[in-house]
Amino acid sequence: MQFSEVLGQQDLKNRLVQGVKNGRVSHAQMWLGNSGYGGLPLALAYCQYLFCENPGESDSCGSCSSCQKVKKLQHPDLHFAFPVVLSEGDISDKFYGDWRTRIFENPYFDLNQWTLTIDEKGRKPIIGNHESQNILKKLRLTSFEGGYKIMLIWMAEEMNETAANKLLKILEEPPEKTVFLLLVDNADKILTTIMSRTQLVKIPQINHTSISAKLIHDYGLHMSDADSVAFMSDGSWISAYELASSGARNTDSRDLFVEGFRAAYKKDVIEMMNWANSLAALSREEQKGFLKYGLHLFRQSLLFSYTNEKLTRLSREEMDFVRNFSRFVTGNNFEDLYGLFSQSHYFVDRNANPKILFTDLIFQVMKLIHLA
Ligand SMILES: [Zn+2]
Repeated sequence: MQFSEVLGQQDLKNRLVQGVKNGRVSHAQMWLGNSGYGGLPLALAYCQYLFCENPGESDSCGSCSSCQKVKKLQHPDLHFAFPVVLSEGDISDKFYGDWRTRIFENPYFDLNQWTLTIDEKGRKPIIGNHESQNILKKLRLTSFEGGYKIMLIWMAEEMNETAANKLLKILEEPPEKTVFLLLVDNADKILTTIMSRTQLVKIPQINHTSISAKLIHDYGLHMSDADSVAFMSDGSWISAYELASSGARNTDSRDLFVEGFRAAYKKDVIEMMNWANSLAALSREEQKGFLKYGLHLFRQSLLFSYTNEKLTRLSREEMDFVRNFSRFVTGNNFEDLYGLFSQSHYFVDRNANPKILFTDLIFQVMKLIHLA
């Protein structure tokens, strides 16, 4: 993978490349950030740059034999460790086929999606004792190609304590020309001793213009939908992709939202019932999309009321809507409205009767907006 294939993150790409050019490649790095920000694709592009035989100013060449090997995930000096379901196999190597397929398909995935890739039952994967022995064994080998040896540990916070302590020993006395890349989603779960021995690389959110542009270009979304999804995704391509492919278009959701709230405000029972019926007729994914969108609008409306336009993350059309709507969402009812929508999302996921659910929802909304 080349840096050019990684979405957004231009500043970080520049810094990574500069580091390599100036010979500042720390032997133990902790890359911290939500999986949706693209830590894994960035790390793959970084490895490819490190191995590349003809590295350019800002990217690997993409065509030398090293680049080809990294691209195919078959470089002999690039090693991976990641969480696995122990009852199905004790080390990453046994799942390497799945790992490659998953990355080729789409390198933006999180632990949850990975779990479902390797285990239908969704049992919790970890990085266990055998893995740490395997890591030691691999790093004892001299590098095949004479350059760096890289050990990329994805979701390093899923290491159990024994594995983490073993790793700590290697980090204290690293083999020569070895680079550890520890990719971490949640720093709270990492041993502080490991943290203190690694150089921290923070992976920021992907900026919303990059996400929006990709949604327009690759998925054919209209600009207002793309902007809306991009803002709602909080810088995560995984969320943006899920939102965009859920079938629920935010412009449709917004129309429904407006209709429902208008009926509830007027206390027009017939319109409210019609509204509940039309919601019930949507697919479950669309219903979930609508509810998620509602949660987003509540948050943004509250932000708008307290901070005005500075901090809100909305497309232009949504901003016009929220300017009026925000007076219905205040400190008096925000929590209840938010709770109502997130609970309904939970019930839709669990096959609740949609007619009852949305009828109940709109009557609750009627009570709550009159409390604002
Ligand atoms: Zn190359």
